[in-house]
Amino acid sequence: MDLVAWLEEAARAVRSWEASWGDFERHESVRVCDEEVSVAFNALMQRLRGNYPFFHPRYAGQMLKPPHPVAALGYAAAMLINPNNHALDGGPPTAAMEKEVVRRLAEMFRFPEETLGHLTGGGTMANLEALWVARNIRPQQAIAFSEAAHYTHGRMSALLGVRPVEVPADAQGRMQLEALEAELKTGTVGTVVLTAGTTSLGAVDPVAEALPLCRRYGTRVHVDAAYGGFYVLLAYADQAGLLSGAVARNFRAIAGADSVVIDPHKHGLQPYGCGCILLRDPSLGRFYRHDSPYTYFTSDELHLGEISLECSRAGASAAALWLTLQVLPLAADRGLGPILAACRRAAQRWSSALETAAVLRPYLPVDKVAFCKIPADD
Ligand SMILES: *Cc1c(COP(=O)(O)O)cnc(C)c1O
Repeated sequence: MDLVAWLEEAARAVRSWEASWGDFERHESVRVCDEEVSVAFNALMQRLRGNYPFFHPRYAGQMLKPPHPVAALGYAAAMLINPNNHALDGGPPTAAMEKEVVRRLAEMFRFPEETLGHLTGGGTMANLEALWVARNIRPQQAIAFSEAAHYTHGRMSALLGVRPVEVPADAQGRMQLEALEAELKTGTVGTVVLTAGTTSLGAVDPVAEALPLCRRYGTRVHVDAAYGGFYVLLAYADQAGLLSGAVARNFRAIAGADSVVIDPHKHGLQPYGCGCILLRDPSLGRFYRHDSPYTYFTSDELHLGEISLECSRAGASAAALWLTLQVLPLAADRGLGPILAACRRAAQRWSSALETAAVLRPYLPVDKVAFCKIPADD
């Protein structure tokens, strides 16, 4: 697709929709002239050149990349209108799109149909909500997570006034089950956070074993799949054997968790500002209950702000994800699946290449992180 042509098309289509509402003059105070814009714009582009080339295949630094052009197109088109997904009157179409994409994400994890969820500004906000719900259910109890979990869990526990319990991880960055059980035996842990794809090593906690263990002790389970969550697609249909059996089993076990967080702005190809929280039990919506004198009077239908801690949120994020999933659906054999598989193969190839590299060496040997043989596909 030619993004330049499509962006023009988006601007044109929005302009034409605006024109359908009748002519008007913009106030002179908001008018700017092209010469002024030109100077400022050139200065902006000059500054933006200071970025690292995230888009380039030779860039291998942080987990940064531009959004997929389809996502950029959906975002740009909706952003020109600027709907706010806080309340339905802030933009009914993008609120409906948000409910649809959240449904798709819940289905991807095999969460039940009545799952409650919404998009967030990112994984931090989504995890904060999960831990906030956890604290509200078990007010006096601790929240346990592995020492390899994202630092946000420690910070958010402090913010919420919850005692954090750090469970040791093994050499591959996965939560140690014996250490977890020792904590569960104390009877003071109300919720355990398991990570499906740690931010540093991509390690997947033993969800399949930890979940029944937690159930035995009556402990809730939240899965932080902000980084790795989309790989659940490959776990359900992994013909190529791109994931080890244990990793695939742990991804599939997320289906039994109480809540899960995923970041479409990581492996979901979206621009920043797109996380998601999913809560298995829709009755948990009671903790969010509040009324808005400004916005909730327009309908009895659910306003997304009624189940979110954030108020204003970009409807454009929902539009971007919605458009992306139309073209690149959440499937293993088409759409997002082959993109994730290619990323996985690239990681495996890179890891093997490092074994014989003169300057660099892998932080963990390939077999220890359950990398399998690189399939000779291309
Ligand atoms: C990135 C990440 C977060 C934080 O999400 P943001 O979108 O950066 O706010 C939380 N947990 C994990 C595992 C992550 O990789």
